[in-house]
Amino acid sequence: MPHSKDGRDWQPEFLIAINPDKCIGCGRCFKVCGRDVMTLKGLNDEGELVALDDDEDDEIEKKIMVMDDEGACIGCGACARVCPTNCQTHAAITAEMA
Ligand code: SF4
Ligand code: SF4
Repeated sequence: MPHSKDGRDWQPEFLIAINPDKCIGCGRCFKVCGRDVMTLKGLNDEGELVALDDDEDDEIEKKIMVMDDEGACIGCGACARVCPTNCQTHAAITAEMA
């Protein structure tokens, strides 16, 4: 098991999913994550994910957070603590299990 600075056992809880139906795109999780695991995307009227930086804002129905670099997560759990809609799923997976 991984451990803290002074050797205490510490079990990472990795981000494994964000429920797109519950996410309100508030960006709180993004702000607290130091690992660039997530990115904000737009959902258009056909339910497709679109980038927010290419002037398609008029087609965007809703913004949601998605996982961009899942493997960079260190399982700190900060994103779960700030999410107001509890739409994230975390699990104590290991590299061997993934
Ligand atoms: S658990 Fe920590 S490292 Fe992983 S996505 Fe959440 S805030 Fe980022
Ligand atoms: S904190 Fe929760 S509701 Fe807000 S963007 Fe992140 S996953 Fe979505």
